[in-house]
Amino acid sequence: MTRRGEVTAYVGLGANLGDPVAALRLALDRLGQAAGIQGVRASGFYRSAPVDAAGPWYCNAVAEVRTTLTAPALLALLQSLERAAGRQRPYRNAPRTLDLDVLLYGSARIASPDLTVPHPRWRQRAFVLRPLQELDPARVDAADLAAVADQAIERLP
Ligand code: ADP
Ligand code: MG
Repeated sequence: MTRRGEVTAYVGLGANLGDPVAALRLALDRLGQAAGIQGVRASGFYRSAPVDAAGPWYCNAVAEVRTTLTAPALLALLQSLERAAGRQRPYRNAPRTLDLDVLLYGSARIASPDLTVPHPRWRQRAFVLRPLQELDPARVDAADLAAVADQAIERLP
């Protein structure tokens, strides 16, 4: 249940530099304490191979957040958490200390220069579908899951 004015959004978390598990834990803590975030429910953590990129394995998770922030304000919050984790963007798909993406924001469809929601690739990524399925199985299509079966991913204990 969400209260009046609250939206349920899904945030994708990923990291593959430094200590990725610690980075995700810290990001989830900070997200839960941020103004405008009423609740956070996190999936388990996964280990996945980089897609379209080289570099170390990723740690990934998805968080369900209840928020009174607008979608652009949520993106700005996520970017501030990325900066706090020392995120740099030397080139596209570069390894990163923390990547936080807005996957879904209620049922909103947004196409602005800075923000596309639903995230354009969420249904093609096992590292989104598997953790999202833990949080809300009805949102994940069995055919989409089958289509990503070749992507290397394992749930961390
Ligand atoms: P990526 O996550 O695609 O690997 P970045 O994290 O560097 O790459 O994000 C690049 C840009 O993507 C950001 O500056 C942001 O404005 C834009 N963007 C568009 N839609 C989204 C979204 N749904 N979630 C996060 N960033 C988004
Ligand atoms: Mg991103």
